[in-house]
Amino acid sequence: MHAVPTTQASPYRGRLAPSPTGLLHIGHARTFWTAYQRALAHKGTLVLRNEDLDPQRSKAKFAEAMTEDLHWLGIRWQEGPDVGGPFAPYEQSRRREFYLAAWRRLRDGGFIYPCTCSRKDLANSAAAPNEADDEPHYSGRCRERIGEASRYESPAGVNWRFRIPAGEEITFDDLHLGSQRFVAGEDFGDFVVWRRDDVPAYQLAVSADDAAMQITEVVRGADLLKSTARQLLLVRALALAVPAYYHCDLVRDEAGARLAKRNDALSLRKLREQGYSPQQVLNMCTPG
Ligand SMILES: [Zn+2]
Repeated sequence: MHAVPTTQASPYRGRLAPSPTGLLHIGHARTFWTAYQRALAHKGTLVLRNEDLDPQRSKAKFAEAMTEDLHWLGIRWQEGPDVGGPFAPYEQSRRREFYLAAWRRLRDGGFIYPCTCSRKDLANSAAAPNEADDEPHYSGRCRERIGEASRYESPAGVNWRFRIPAGEEITFDDLHLGSQRFVAGEDFGDFVVWRRDDVPAYQLAVSADDAAMQITEVVRGADLLKSTARQLLLVRALALAVPAYYHCDLVRDEAGARLAKRNDALSLRKLREQGYSPQQVLNMCTPG
């Protein structure tokens, strides 16, 4: 008789973090498949986090579809909205208290300021053309309001921006794409951490959640490299643990253009209805 070996659980914790604002498409499939494979290779834990922060755009039907589509692909996770886990809740819409705590720490630490610029002000002052899906570079018009932050008991009503250390180099080693370098103030300006409509911004929510859920490695698309630089500043300001990063190549079409995020023809749902198998779909989005 052999004693049952006591297995040391792997410290690796990864996550899948889809937003239920549309159907998952083959670009998502590739990133999520990579996240799944890396968690398996590390004998780690994979967390599904439903990033349903935006109350206008998030839909329950898309949340259901994403769980179903990920299962259909063959991806399995150990913690999530459907299976629970020690870091519940796994829906961002139910984690407001975590984000508020982070907002208070940033306010008290002198890292953020209320920005009262109107939409029109922001449009007029957009300094440089940015990639369409990235946050516009803010002019810094309200930077000096940092002293007013302590007057706010709650974040609602204005945009809250993180005051970046202008000129500072932010570097990190990406596990897939290698060494990365961004310069605060050149690559991005003071970014929003809490929106005027009282919704925490992506950067804040993700940084707070990855730390609270003890995520050790973040696998996501290369379109978020610049967001990683911003999040590293937030992580430092909040004195949180820094995860490792693995940014996947973006799936492009034959002409080399990045696939439109919401191209229904390339949704997993449509492909499945047309009779494609999960393996065929995964082959479609693996570099050839
Ligand atoms: Zn402003």
